[in-house]
Amino acid sequence: MTKSIGIVGAGTAGLHLGLHLLENGIDATIYTDRRPEEYASLRLLNTVAHHHVTVAREDKLGVNHWPDAGYFGHYYYIGGPQPMEFYGKLVKPSRAVDYRIYQPTLMKDFEARGGTIIYDQIAHEDLPEIGDKHDLIVVCTGKGPFGQMFAHDPSNSPFDRPQRALCVGLFKGIRETEPRAVTMFFSPGEGEMIEIPTLSFNGMVTALVMENHIGGDLEILAKTKYDDDPKAFIALLLEKLKKHYPTCYERIDLESFDLANSSLDILQGGVTPTVRASSAKLPNGKLAVALGDVQAVVDPVLGQGANMASYASIILGEEIVENDVFDERFMEKVDARRRDRVLSATRWTNYILRGFNTMAPELLQFIGAISQNPHMADEFTENFNFPEKQWDCFSSPERVASWIERRSQVPANDAAASVAAE
Ligand SMILES: Cc1cc2nc3c(=O)[nH]c(=O)nc-3n(C[C@H](O)[C@H](O)[C@H](O)COP(=O)(O)OP(=O)(O)OC[C@H]3O[C@@H](n4cnc5c(N)ncnc54)[C@H](O)[C@@H]3O)c2cc1C
Repeated sequence: MTKSIGIVGAGTAGLHLGLHLLENGIDATIYTDRRPEEYASLRLLNTVAHHHVTVAREDKLGVNHWPDAGYFGHYYYIGGPQPMEFYGKLVKPSRAVDYRIYQPTLMKDFEARGGTIIYDQIAHEDLPEIGDKHDLIVVCTGKGPFGQMFAHDPSNSPFDRPQRALCVGLFKGIRETEPRAVTMFFSPGEGEMIEIPTLSFNGMVTALVMENHIGGDLEILAKTKYDDDPKAFIALLLEKLKKHYPTCYERIDLESFDLANSSLDILQGGVTPTVRASSAKLPNGKLAVALGDVQAVVDPVLGQGANMASYASIILGEEIVENDVFDERFMEKVDARRRDRVLSATRWTNYILRGFNTMAPELLQFIGAISQNPHMADEFTENFNFPEKQWDCFSSPERVASWIERRSQVPANDAAASVAAE
């Protein structure tokens, strides 16, 4: 049977789905509002790290154009009266590429392989007409208003506002760690910062994702505009980095430290974590499927959004290949396969946001344990690839205690082998 799929949105969700469908001989049309040549002059979209499970999907799709940009693990720095530092390694390298490069590159791949992209801003009124042209519509327009056509899921959306005041930028003048790694910093009661080695327009630079607690000392970073006075902004940032994230500050060359490419390299605001219904019916009776941030948007503190979007895209793609009828049974099958990872990523991320607000005792116990045991630190780091395994650990204080206890009993060599096998 010939099938035709309409995909609204050319982010990671839409592109991975579209490429998977083309690979399987299924006709896919992407509708999107931005042309590839527009991306280079856009403000920073985000600072996305692809975990190695996502890089493996890119390898399979033949779109891993950046094999040398990978990083090898996570450093952790927990501030306070007695700061703690430790490292966890990944089984395979993960990688971050500026989405202003990544997305247009994959759009070109999609078109070069015979996919059609229609460049237009789509409004809800357009959906019935688009729906008539295809057997199934997939909506992956990101966290903007378009996705509100899918019902809000209050049971999985515990917050009605952003939990962090974000200040996110790409910077030059920060020396890379050895080995190249993400560093996750925690300033108790004040904020978290994720430092990500990132490939941008002028080579490798550093993304700083500053997750500032509302009402705390760092919140001002989300409110001060770089463009108003670049030197004053950089001076303020250096002051805060020195105080809260000193092991990052120590690697900064004060002469050259600035935004990496231009004043467009900074993004400030907040994300309200939200889960939505996984599908909706169009007026013609056909299904529209929610995918990526449209279905579930998370705060970026654990770097899960695009990774779960990619995961869900390939599952949806596989079910489109397998099924010829796109009805409620089809949606049940898609949801049964994608739900655990998507919900676990959202629940684990929401737990961590709350846990660092309240300094949850079991979270402190967990950090204390993994800081003393490299195998636990490796497993925790590797499990950024598998948020359902993180949620197996963090979904209750009893589970945290049992996670620690079980691993404390495993001899060091066996623990290493069990991580490597997954
Ligand atoms: C600061 C920050 C850091 C992040 N870090 C990470 C990270 O480290 N790891 C991670 O996995 N995730 C991270 N994320 C989350 C990640 O960016 C998103 O989860 C991911 O990009 C969502 O992909 P998507 O395809 O669903 O949506 P998007 O990438 O937002 O794509 C939406 C697409 O729809 C198009 N579009 C929108 N509206 C319309 C319309 N009306 N008509 C036509 N086209 C339309 C857009 O142009 C775009 O092509 C981060 C997010 C932020 C904000």
